[in-house]
Amino acid sequence: MTVPAKVGVLGGGRMGGGIAHAFLLAGSDVVVVDQPDALETAEAGIRRAIATSVERGTALRSRSDLDAGLRVTADRTALGDRDLVVEAIPEIPELKAATLPAVEELLGPDAVLASNTSSLSIDDLATRLTRPARFLGLHFFNPVPVSTLVEVVAGAATDPALVATAGEWVRALGKTPVTVRDAPGFASSRLGVALALEAIRMLEDGVASAEDIDAAMVLGYKHATGPLRTTDVVGLDVRLGIAEYLHEKLGERFAPPALLREMVAAGKLGRKTGEGFFVWD
Ligand code: NAD
Repeated sequence: MTVPAKVGVLGGGRMGGGIAHAFLLAGSDVVVVDQPDALETAEAGIRRAIATSVERGTALRSRSDLDAGLRVTADRTALGDRDLVVEAIPEIPELKAATLPAVEELLGPDAVLASNTSSLSIDDLATRLTRPARFLGLHFFNPVPVSTLVEVVAGAATDPALVATAGEWVRALGKTPVTVRDAPGFASSRLGVALALEAIRMLEDGVASAEDIDAAMVLGYKHATGPLRTTDVVGLDVRLGIAEYLHEKLGERFAPPALLREMVAAGKLGRKTGEGFFVWD
């Protein structure tokens, strides 16, 4: 199985740019659609990533072939002939709910529409689509070039054959698919946030220092990074937002600890502000 020949990416930001780059490397012709004021940055980022892959020898296609395979435009109708379109616009429910049906209308009957949403329900996003069987979640991880996990999220109406095919596409990208049924937080956020919230409660309770809590997971369970450091990297505000959502959907076990709320209110958001559970230079 190879990747689809013609891929579209809606939203060429951090994730969309990475997704476009991944499909280009794997052999797809890629159209990226973004807003007029974002085109230059989106295109420059993807072409820089192409150049880096060629320099590092990780690209099997030539630089000119890769460059020719990319088009960045503000014209959404350019998605009309795509086999697969991955939506990677901001995580604003109303924006995605309004945009996905408008994109679906442009596509051929066999085309696949996917969302890179990190938290929204695929079933909710599918309610306004006319072909929900051709819609699913493809949740890439940040940064896309180095993250090998992609969650393939099957909505209640998603064609099971499409879920299997999407898994093969992910493998053709050199990544590993994890198939999950549409459920709050999918697999990764639900488990990752559960661990982080317990680690924060342990810190609150004075069980151990942040360093030692993380070391317990890194050394004891071979995690690459401890739950508190990971929370610093993701952003305490981002984690709080997901915890609030999971709390609402899944109940008390996801109630955000007071310490997390206090730190977010104090502007200690992690690496991006220089301080979270650790101090960052
Ligand atoms: P981003 O802000 O970097 O990029 C969003 C892009 O969408 C921007 O380039 C913006 O100009 C464009 N855009 C906005 N409205 C648009 C529209 N109507 N049509 C076309 N383009 C439009 O955001 P991101 O971090 O790349 O996140 C995108 C999606 O990926 C979100 O759903 C997010 O939850 C998900 N996600 C993010 C991460 C992460 O760590 N950043 C990880 C996994 C999934």
